[in-house]
Amino acid sequence: ELSKNGWLLDITKLKLGENIGEGEFGAVYEGDYMGQRVAVKTIKCDVTAQAFLQETTVMTKLQHKNLVRLLGVILHKGLHIVTELMSKGNLVNFLRTRGRSVVNSAQLIRFALDVCEGMEYLESKKLIHRDLAARNVLVSDDHVAKVSDFGLTKLDSKVSDNAKLPIKWTAPEALKKEKFSTKSDIWSYGILLWEIFSYGRQPYPKIPLMEVKERVEAGYRMEAPEDCPPTVYALMRICWEQDPRKRPTFHKLREKLERETGKCGPGPVS
Ligand code: ATP
Repeated sequence: ELSKNGWLLDITKLKLGENIGEGEFGAVYEGDYMGQRVAVKTIKCDVTAQAFLQETTVMTKLQHKNLVRLLGVILHKGLHIVTELMSKGNLVNFLRTRGRSVVNSAQLIRFALDVCEGMEYLESKKLIHRDLAARNVLVSDDHVAKVSDFGLTKLDSKVSDNAKLPIKWTAPEALKKEKFSTKSDIWSYGILLWEIFSYGRQPYPKIPLMEVKERVEAGYRMEAPEDCPPTVYALMRICWEQDPRKRPTFHKLREKLERETGKCGPGPVS
């Protein structure tokens, strides 16, 4: 199916460069494909490669300015997944290394809005991400944030592997009853908002991982990050409504965030 639609790339046209990251299943390299700067994710294991081929099939159908774009795949000693290069790396590292003195709150809102728009697009396609977190958001050369890692993205809401769920980012009903939905993505988005406004801190800093599920189930919620605008914290809190039906849609959230951009005005990041 991939070859028919032109998603199969030519290995001889690919120049591999430096290693720029480690994925769960293999290294990520910078590269050049016919003059375009790209990122190349290599998957050596054949079984995993099959699963990733599924992932890329989903990706071929998705095009949005806030989703990391797939250029194609190369089948050569396993699988190479070629995507646009996001030269500023993942959002957690971006925020941690630069911090408050470099990134202002207008830029934080901009990142939040970027991710929200990407997710609004997935929502419109009825796709669930399942692993939305700042580590899975990448930053481009011109500081646009894009959602990546569609590894778990599926149309249906059944998940087979419960053991690998990112507990601090997963909604209570998804942890408990494996009930994934756009509303559980909204929960994760609230955690991601918290990560953004805390400049890449680990969520639930005061609670041992083993206790998080239970505490959240009992109603515990993180406090606002330092200097976080109350209006933004209010958005986090509606994303963390216990009842999924009470959480907003990405569409609604985007509208609310756009009102925030009006308050700070544009601010470049250096
Ligand atoms: P996990 O599932 O554990 O989050 P993974 O196996 O899916 O990780 P990725 O998150 O895709 O691996 O990649 C690992 C790292 O490589 C990222 O955190 C990022 O720093 C870098 N990376 C991945 N894709 C790109 C890209 N398109 N451009 C630039 N850097 C990238």
